[in-house]
Amino acid sequence: MPDVLDGPGPRIIAIANQKGGVGKTTTAINLGAALAELGHRTLLVDLDPQGNASTGLGIDLARREVSTYDLLIEDAPLESVLQQTETEDLWIAPATTDLSSADIELVANENRSHLLHKALRQEAARRFSFILIDCPPSLSLLTVNAMVAAHSILVPLQSEFFALEGLSQLMLTMREVRQTANPDLRIEGVVLTMFDARNNLSKLVEDDARETLGEMVFDTIVPRNVRLSEAPSFAMPVLAYDDLSKGSLAYRALAQEMVERHEEAAI
Ligand code: ADP
Ligand code: MG
Repeated sequence: MPDVLDGPGPRIIAIANQKGGVGKTTTAINLGAALAELGHRTLLVDLDPQGNASTGLGIDLARREVSTYDLLIEDAPLESVLQQTETEDLWIAPATTDLSSADIELVANENRSHLLHKALRQEAARRFSFILIDCPPSLSLLTVNAMVAAHSILVPLQSEFFALEGLSQLMLTMREVRQTANPDLRIEGVVLTMFDARNNLSKLVEDDARETLGEMVFDTIVPRNVRLSEAPSFAMPVLAYDDLSKGSLAYRALAQEMVERHEEAAI
């Protein structure tokens, strides 16, 4: 079966929301694992100085000697940053706390917003079908780098009060990036996370999101599922930790839905 992405290089998706704790990293890890399971070789670029995606995929500090900091700031080749994970076809470019000073270190660099873009256009990126960028919880230069490098933005939305409020800021930043650096930047979609079917509020947030954002919202909803929060401490995606958990099923469905949307768009 030819890959949906044959030809033009990897589909680069930034997973962004300036709020912390909404499920960005959980989505990056598990959507990545689910895409890999479907046979799409996937690279997760950890762009959060906290390095939660790197830890959650079992990349200990000894294996982070070359990190996304080096990729952005030291011009390290992409090839030298890539680490294979325990999940077949899932790779990671790990992050360390070094990244936290990137904003300051890059102030005087005129290409500061384009560093990741440049890094991900290297030949080594072409072996991947998908590149997922796990953004930090801010609209800092790191997130802007992700938006400049990406084809699209995937927004995890926590099913709780005020969830939609932060979106306008995100959209504003996205518009700026479109006007200045990346006119083709699209919204990949909005995915509701930590959904609690027993909680009326979750349902209200869903209705609100679907009404406001329409088709942008994925049909697939990620439920609140304790297996999803346990898996990182065992250094594996939930798909490996508990194959048939609700969390696994949700991220498999999300990967499937995303790929199908691309296939439909390509026809
Ligand atoms: P972010 O990267 O946006 O800061 P995380 O993905 O790290 O958010 O999620 C924040 C916390 O919530 C983590 O402890 C994570 O394990 C947990 N979590 C994320 N998604 C779910 C979910 N669907 N069900 C239960 N816990 C979740
Ligand atoms: Mg995170």
